[in-house]
Amino acid sequence: MFNPSRSSSGIARRIHRFPRFASAMLLAMVLLLTCIPQARTATTVYDLALNGGRVIDPTTHLDAARNVGILKGRIAAISKAPLKGKEQIDVSGLVVAPGFIDLHAHGQNNFGQAYQVRDGVTTALELEIGDYPLDALREREGKSIINYGYSAGHTAARILVKRGDRAKANHEPLNDTELKQMLGYLTKALDDGALGIGIGLDYVSRGVSAVELESLFKLAAARRVPLFIHIRMPDDRNDLSGLKELLDLTEKTRASFHMVHIVSTGLGRVPMFLKMIESARKKGLDVTTEAYPYTAGSTGINSGIFDHDWQKKFGISYGEIEWPPTGSRFASKEMWDEYRARYRNGIIIIHVMKEEWVEQALSHPLVMVASDGMPISSFKERAHPRGMGCFARVLGRYCREKKILSLNEAIRKMTLMPAQRLEKFSPAMRRKGRLTIGADADITIFDADEVIDRATYAEPNQYSKGIVHVLVGGTFVVRNEQLVEGVFVGKPVVSNRAGA
Ligand SMILES: [Zn+2]
Repeated sequence: MFNPSRSSSGIARRIHRFPRFASAMLLAMVLLLTCIPQARTATTVYDLALNGGRVIDPTTHLDAARNVGILKGRIAAISKAPLKGKEQIDVSGLVVAPGFIDLHAHGQNNFGQAYQVRDGVTTALELEIGDYPLDALREREGKSIINYGYSAGHTAARILVKRGDRAKANHEPLNDTELKQMLGYLTKALDDGALGIGIGLDYVSRGVSAVELESLFKLAAARRVPLFIHIRMPDDRNDLSGLKELLDLTEKTRASFHMVHIVSTGLGRVPMFLKMIESARKKGLDVTTEAYPYTAGSTGINSGIFDHDWQKKFGISYGEIEWPPTGSRFASKEMWDEYRARYRNGIIIIHVMKEEWVEQALSHPLVMVASDGMPISSFKERAHPRGMGCFARVLGRYCREKKILSLNEAIRKMTLMPAQRLEKFSPAMRRKGRLTIGADADITIFDADEVIDRATYAEPNQYSKGIVHVLVGGTFVVRNEQLVEGVFVGKPVVSNRAGA
């Protein structure tokens, strides 16, 4: 019997039921999709299966026992069920994290990288000082242990403009022709794949005019790449102008700006600098920073920062400066002048920071971890231990022992944050710094109870402890705390303009 009221209510019911029907279908599809990886994991034989580890991923906030399957250099499965692999490794009791990304590594050779990879680093980039020309980018292909890359080096370009005269490059302004030439070099480097522009501003402090500095910001803004800057340090240690001038330029040009090593250039200003960076970000400016976990800095004995009244700006004297080959401190101006003349390329260690400044920086959510590791090329040489133990030191000393930041937070600062700094213009970085399906299998596996740095100022050439396995692109580079000899799987990291 026709019953209009029933019929209309029937239609209404169906219409009313439609969203429920649709959501049920959606749920079924989601369940099906989530089951596919499970089904695949049951039958697929991966190139490598890492079973039973504590998988920590900063993108999804996963921190749980999972099994990781790797196929063709990428992460292909993350599963609760154990996975089959041509090779299966039991990593139970160990943390499985994305490989660490170091935005600030001067030691761009395999000797230094052997220490870095034993410290968990799978990508080490020279972004503070950079390079020009970028020949090394191609020359090192197939010869590098870990992934590598460079910024366009302002200092190198300046030296070239000043025809190899370092003193002039450090302290003389550029005329219009020279400025054009220098910008041309940096543009070429960016075309060749440089990851931004690297500026050791305090080293060339008096030579760089306001016009030159602004032109560098404008170039970076036009190319949509960041500037990595060692800021100027005024003589007065309460003076905030070193950072302010760069934040003002960031606002004016809308460039992206990364302040390198906030503790060694900030000193007692660290809390103020962090606040300035916070408020710049609140205004929508793209400003970031980094720190290394040591109370001493390091640089060349003949670097430009010692050509002027350095005692004032650092608040130290000769006794705070260490000569690494002997471990002794400088005793007088005479000794200092003599060493500067005798050891033209000597590197020194400057005991200038307080532990509380290091902690203020490392515990702040905006601060990434980056080593500032210095170059060495033989066991006989000694350098600052930060190039050997920076990352294990953060995990062991600052997470486990001092508890100033959580393990998850430390991993985020070493992986996702540096990847995000670069990924807007370097697509390869979108697959790094995370432990998700499809990401590059750059993976660091460590013992959270044991991990610690062993490199000291007195004996820097020591590998970190507790970094058990390290994979670069799915290949073991460290296995059972030993470097796998003869493996050179590091790839160049370049911007998306490379070769354009
Ligand atoms: Zn620096």
